[in-house]
Amino acid sequence: MLEFFRKRKMDKPGCIDMKEKLKTQEGCVLCHFENSAVEQYLRDLLCEKVNDLEVRKELLSGHGYCQCHASKLLEAGDSVGTATLYLEQLQSLICDLDIVYRKRNASELKAWLAHESCPVCKYLDKHSSNFLDYFVEGLRDEEFKDNLQAGSGLCLTHLILVLDNVSDKAQFAFIVKSHRRKYRELLMDIMEFIRKNDCRFKDENLGREKDSWQRAVKTMTRF
Ligand SMILES: [Zn+2]
Ligand SMILES: [Zn+2]
Repeated sequence: MLEFFRKRKMDKPGCIDMKEKLKTQEGCVLCHFENSAVEQYLRDLLCEKVNDLEVRKELLSGHGYCQCHASKLLEAGDSVGTATLYLEQLQSLICDLDIVYRKRNASELKAWLAHESCPVCKYLDKHSSNFLDYFVEGLRDEEFKDNLQAGSGLCLTHLILVLDNVSDKAQFAFIVKSHRRKYRELLMDIMEFIRKNDCRFKDENLGREKDSWQRAVKTMTRF
C-alpha cells in the first residue's frame, strides 16, 4: 500500500517536470524552479494585476519589494506597469517622511528597508516548499537519481535544505556522495582555469573549465 502512494506522488506533474529538467538544466534545478515561479509571478503581475487593489494593498503594507525582487522587476522592463506599482509607495513614503519630520525620529522609515513582507518572497516561500517536496519524492525514483547524478547538482543552499528534509539514511548518503563528487569536479575545473590563465600556459585553449568561475559563484549562492 505504501509503495502505491509513493508511486502516485512521483506521478505528480511537478516531480516529472523536475526529473526531466535534471537532465537538461544548467545549474541547480531548485534555483531554476524558483526563478521560473518568480518570472511567472511578475509576468502575471505586470500583465493583469498592477491595478488590483489587493495586490497594491499587500505591496504597500509590505513596504515594497526586497532588493532581489526589485531587480527582477526592473529586468522585466515594463515601464508603465512598474510606475503604477511605485506611485502609491512613493505617496506613502512621503507621508511617512512628514511623520518623521514632526517626531524628529527616523524609526518610521526603517520598515522601508526591512522588506520582511516582500510579496514576491511570500509567494516564493509557498512554492519553494512544493519544489523541495518534488525533489525529495523524486529521490525514490531510480531514473530521477540517475538524472541527478548526470546533471549539475544543487547549489549549497538547496543541498542543505534537501538534506534537512531527507529522512532515509541511504538517500542522505547518496546526496552527500554525489555532491561531494560534483563539487570536487568543479574544484578541478577552477584549478585548471587558474592554471591556464597563467601566462606560461596562455597558449592552451580553454575547455569545460572556461565558465567554472561563474559556476562556482552559482554553486555557493542560491541564484
Ligand atoms: Zn539552488
Ligand atoms: Zn522578495
